[in-house]
Amino acid sequence: MKQSLTTGKGRVSSQACGYAHRVRIDLHTHSTESDGTESPAQVMESARAAGLDVVALTDHDRVAGWVPARARAVELGLGFLPGIEISCAINHASLHLLAYLIDPLHQELAAELDKARTSRETRAEAMVERLRADTGLTWPDVQAQFGAGTTIGRPHIADALVSIGAARDRGEAFGRYLYSGSKYHVSHYAVDPVRAVALVRAAGGVPVLAHPFAHVTGRVVADQTVESMVDAGLAGIEVDHRDQDETARAHARSYADRFGLIRTGSSDYHGTGKPNQLGENVTDAREFERILKEASDSSAAYLP
Ligand code: AMP
Ligand code: FE
Ligand code: FE
Ligand code: ZN
Repeated sequence: MKQSLTTGKGRVSSQACGYAHRVRIDLHTHSTESDGTESPAQVMESARAAGLDVVALTDHDRVAGWVPARARAVELGLGFLPGIEISCAINHASLHLLAYLIDPLHQELAAELDKARTSRETRAEAMVERLRADTGLTWPDVQAQFGAGTTIGRPHIADALVSIGAARDRGEAFGRYLYSGSKYHVSHYAVDPVRAVALVRAAGGVPVLAHPFAHVTGRVVADQTVESMVDAGLAGIEVDHRDQDETARAHARSYADRFGLIRTGSSDYHGTGKPNQLGENVTDAREFERILKEASDSSAAYLP
């Protein structure tokens, strides 16, 4: 990797193309700043141990992990790309937008992230209220599962259900209580995806649609929504992701071909919170280079 990725200036050299097969790039991971189980620094350590050359940290609606992650990545000589995964909703269906290299101080975008995070907290309390009668779960049980400022999600409620013995692991908690459509489920505020794409571009960032055709988890984005997002400036689409089968990946690739979108592949690592393993899907170095080029300022990325 030392030869294939240059360079001081936050760019992958054109030489990278020739070495693409040797560079392992995973552009979607979560830490304890959202619903992962490892701290941002630990995610970097795990990425190094998994043999990755470049990793992006993409916590839900939160950038607080960037500083400690980048510092540890620098110590490890690991490439680092700062990102987030923005919660969006359209027609009451949730959808995720990855965004790389945004200006975290962009006011309108920061306000949307704050609004989603505040609403997530109210929503979690409402879900606990519904769960209490049947499981005995209390809000303090959930509060014990996350630190100050964390973006709260159903995984924390899942961990609390495990802690009181109502489920064996997150998977079982989702299957029994937390799936969307369950009588315990409450939705939260999330920005319209077309507006989110425009905001990410306004903040100088690179918007990439996360796992759009994830049949495995029942979250499938309508073609019309994808096209509206492309019109608004969508830069890329996540193709290789464990929740997308070959049909879904082919569909995502067809969008990439039709609209010239960047194709990514990634693990969506959540530590021990999900079976997803770092590097189980990776992004081609040429596609990674396109992300760096599309950002207004790529200097927040670290490339040893
Ligand atoms: P929320 O953002 O609160 O609606 O919760 C959605 C999050 O829950 C996703 O980002 C996933 O990381 C996680 N999740 C969804 N289904 C499962 C599952 N079966 N097991 C573990 N985590 C899950
Ligand atoms: Fe998650
Ligand atoms: Fe997601
Ligand atoms: Zn994710």
